[in-house]
Amino acid sequence: MAVVRLEKVRKVYPNGHVALKEASFEIADGELLVLVGPSGCGKTTLLRMIAGLESISGGTLSIGDRVVNDVPPKDRDIAMVFQNYALYPHMTVRENLGFGLRLRGVDKAEIDRRVAGASDMLGLDERLDHRPAALSGGQRQRVALGRAMVRDPSVFLLDEPLSNLDAKLRLSTRVEIARIHRRVGATMVYVTHDQIEAMTLGQRIVVLNGGVIQQLDTPMNLYNKPANLFVAGFLGSPAMNLFHGTLRRADGLRLEMKDGSLALATEAAALDPYIDKPLIVGVRPEDLLTVSDHPGVDARLQAHVDVVEPVGNEVFLNMRHGSEELVSRVPPHSTVQPDSDVALGFHLERVHFFDPESTLRIDV
Ligand code: ATP
Repeated sequence: MAVVRLEKVRKVYPNGHVALKEASFEIADGELLVLVGPSGCGKTTLLRMIAGLESISGGTLSIGDRVVNDVPPKDRDIAMVFQNYALYPHMTVRENLGFGLRLRGVDKAEIDRRVAGASDMLGLDERLDHRPAALSGGQRQRVALGRAMVRDPSVFLLDEPLSNLDAKLRLSTRVEIARIHRRVGATMVYVTHDQIEAMTLGQRIVVLNGGVIQQLDTPMNLYNKPANLFVAGFLGSPAMNLFHGTLRRADGLRLEMKDGSLALATEAAALDPYIDKPLIVGVRPEDLLTVSDHPGVDARLQAHVDVVEPVGNEVFLNMRHGSEELVSRVPPHSTVQPDSDVALGFHLERVHFFDPESTLRIDV
């Protein structure tokens, strides 16, 4: 097991493209850290630099006590699991699991012991003598994980390992990975573009955009205290509702928007510098409450309901307020009908404020 440390690590590709501006953070021993962000944000580049498959343009990368900037992948004590698990089709599961160790000259008894351990943990005992063609997608991905586990590496690097699986298998294999992480206690770095995967698996998450770390935090803090508009919009489905307007002080604070105004009724001093200036107010769908379903809440604005979508045991109201589209997540017993007008409210402590210029969250 090992700590992975990045200090001002940069990546500029030979064509001049800056894939990673400057990353400094530490992955704790035994931690499962997720790298998440939209396509092209640099997450695979970052993972491949930790693996040694991509050179480092600047900064220092250490695994354990060793600076590994110039250490080749095979000497870094890491194991990687890719989206494309590429098992050897002519080998059985047992042979696939042991092949890497055989190449390294590990003796047979030790290979058998490690293969048995991994197979037991991954529930592959019944499949050891099957070829990959006879396995389901989920089982193949488990073999790929097993191949990494038998190496007993200091660090596991996983690059979108579940993206080839269908939704149900993705869920069960995700749980499997969390379970393995707990049992093995290994340091893991996991790349995904899927925010649900990131939020459910990661102990901490790095949100990347355009080669820049936007926030590194626990899932809970990322959701409840997003550092900026990018993180606020990227995490959460449906996305956070954003109200754009100018902050005015009249009868308490209110946000004056193109179509109407939003009563905020707060006196938070942190908002003083924004009076008579542009401000963005964010409310998550579950915090945008219909007054008819939540009688205690004050009405703050009216919206028109276009579509009512039942999703399992909740309902999404897709609404319009002037030109802005809004979504509210309401309980299944809600009586709100499509093509009706609703009064909406929220609790002030569940509201986020953003500076439109810097895009940063304002802590009130
Ligand atoms: P995805 O989810 O689509 O895989 P990603 O976040 O993993 O995206 P990277 O593969 O790390 O993104 O790529 C980051 C940026 O660097 C992208 O804009 C990509 O086009 C660019 N890039 C990747 N490899 C190279 C290369 N060999 N030469 C030049 N640019 C590259």
